[in-house]
Amino acid sequence: MTTAVPILTPEQVRALPRRAREVVEYRKSGLSLNHIQGCPLDCAYCIRHTYGLWDQRQPRAVLSDEEAVEQLIGHRYFMPHVTPLQLFNRATDPFLPQVKKHTFAVVDNLDHRGLRNHLLIITRYRVTDRDCEQLAATRHLRLTLLFTYSGIEDRRIEPYPSSVAALVMQQLDGVDPEYLWRINARAIRPHLAVILDADPAVVAQRLRDRGPHNRLQKPPSSAHTEWHHYREVCQRVTDAGWTIQRIDCSATTVADVAHLVRQRLQDFETSGTGSGFGVSHERD
Ligand code: SF4
Repeated sequence: MTTAVPILTPEQVRALPRRAREVVEYRKSGLSLNHIQGCPLDCAYCIRHTYGLWDQRQPRAVLSDEEAVEQLIGHRYFMPHVTPLQLFNRATDPFLPQVKKHTFAVVDNLDHRGLRNHLLIITRYRVTDRDCEQLAATRHLRLTLLFTYSGIEDRRIEPYPSSVAALVMQQLDGVDPEYLWRINARAIRPHLAVILDADPAVVAQRLRDRGPHNRLQKPPSSAHTEWHHYREVCQRVTDAGWTIQRIDCSATTVADVAHLVRQRLQDFETSGTGSGFGVSHERD
């Protein structure tokens, strides 16, 4: 069995909160299928906390798509061609790059069964022309695709990441970099972005010695992957005219780093070009 997102082991599934294990949910408006759970988009109003999944930012599968569809059509309230259905509408976005394959797998599976049920899909992510063509090829299901647009500009509610670190972290979570650039297009540019860099081999050794502090640091290759993304993002923001101060921390003491940043800020104050810096990321 292969899945585009990691699939949980039976032990991990048993450890989930009870409601997160119920992948088919009866709602007044129909049956909702949610065997992929986890979302990096961080909307403050997300309801996944009510399923005990607030910290789950990486989409993961509780079941394979085939098993999930079997559970759906085997549900006691499922009526072929009648029961309204919803897909991935409580704990992930159906058009996140790594979730999309599952969305289409479920749509295809139901459609090939000749089912004419109504299927509702809601997204706030990007839907491409190719996606539309694929959805339009559905022969039996009656599909409705809704797009969420709130217009909310308060980043505490819908965080639009503006920092280099956020751009990297969200890429590690599988968010399409072009989407990140688009939603950050109007973000305020910091006076100075300080990048604390280091040789990835050095960082990897430090992580082994210290242990990971977050889930993104757990894979053995995390230091190299993150370093690679930082290079790309740094190049891109440099090309976009950002002022970057990169400090190689491979052999630098914390006191040295603090001194270098303080010095740079003093230079800013002296020259009158700015009073602070907007981005700071400590690499390890
Ligand atoms: S896009 Fe949907 S699932 Fe993702 S954080 Fe926002 S509300 Fe939650």
